[in-house]
Amino acid sequence: MAQLIDGKAVAARVRAEVQADVERFKAARGLVPGLAVVRVGEDPASKIYVTGKKKAAEEVGFRSWEHHLREDISQEALLVRVRQLNEDPSVHGILVQLPLPKHIDAERIISAVSPEKDVDGFHPVNAGLLSLGQPGLRPCTPLGAMRLLEEAGCAPAGKRAVVVGRSNIVGKPMALMLLQADATVTVCHRKSDLPREVAQADILVVAVGVPELIQGEWLKPGAVVIDVGMNRKPDGKLVGDVAFQAASQRASAITPVPGGVGPMTIAMLMRNTLIAASGGV
Ligand code: NAP
Repeated sequence: MAQLIDGKAVAARVRAEVQADVERFKAARGLVPGLAVVRVGEDPASKIYVTGKKKAAEEVGFRSWEHHLREDISQEALLVRVRQLNEDPSVHGILVQLPLPKHIDAERIISAVSPEKDVDGFHPVNAGLLSLGQPGLRPCTPLGAMRLLEEAGCAPAGKRAVVVGRSNIVGKPMALMLLQADATVTVCHRKSDLPREVAQADILVVAVGVPELIQGEWLKPGAVVIDVGMNRKPDGKLVGDVAFQAASQRASAITPVPGGVGPMTIAMLMRNTLIAASGGV
């Protein structure tokens, strides 16, 4: 039976570390880190995520602001708001909650956030820095997954890592972080032969959004499995992208859903905001 990687406990630890660092930061600089979260429209999931991020920010000792804007805001007006936040010296981190309404070009908005305040790590400059292996703000979810590997005692160097999913926010940055940690990395997508690729993985990270796509029988015995997926089944149950029961029979360690990667994302957002307030990595 696999060891359970307890993301909730690790996230609580990361947040406590950030809180202690914030105390030191305030004493040394006489400055309070500030996080501004922009939410557009009434998407119910976004409302829950933003409330959670604001609460976490306050708990670690940041100032935080939610800018809740109308669904029908124009792209130009949203760009103006982002630029105002870029100019505001009390704001060190800016996060624009996705998804944005269809009439808004999300990539333009992300690119308008100052790279130094881009605590989501989605700006093309930060994506480029990651790709070059240079310091920059990194996307929170893969950053959290890397920390979970570390906590599970799994050093990526020399291991075969397989990442299923190639999104700009999870799959691609995850693959680059594993590569930077000296793993041998394969990235899979819809055209990949999943059972064959997954069977090679010492480390398997799955970020797909299809409930229980990865079958436990495909795993290499002893693999370490990080399941990023969060899928709501018709009965209301939250499940990952990996069939957990069967996978935990073969893996040596695995994240549960919920309680695995999910809580880490907010914790790493707190870490990124403190890094931004400190003047960068
Ligand atoms: P996304 O942008 O929709 O990307 C999904 C990726 O999975 C794509 O690269 C797609 O391949 C691939 N894919 C889809 N179906 C596949 C299949 N049948 N076989 C192989 N590959 C397949 O999703 P995302 O934003 O990365 O999110 C992925 C999951 O992670 C979702 O469940 C999301 O809720 C969750 N998530 C969780 C957190 C967290 O904090 N825990 C954060 C972000 C996301 P193609 O490129 O070929 O289309």
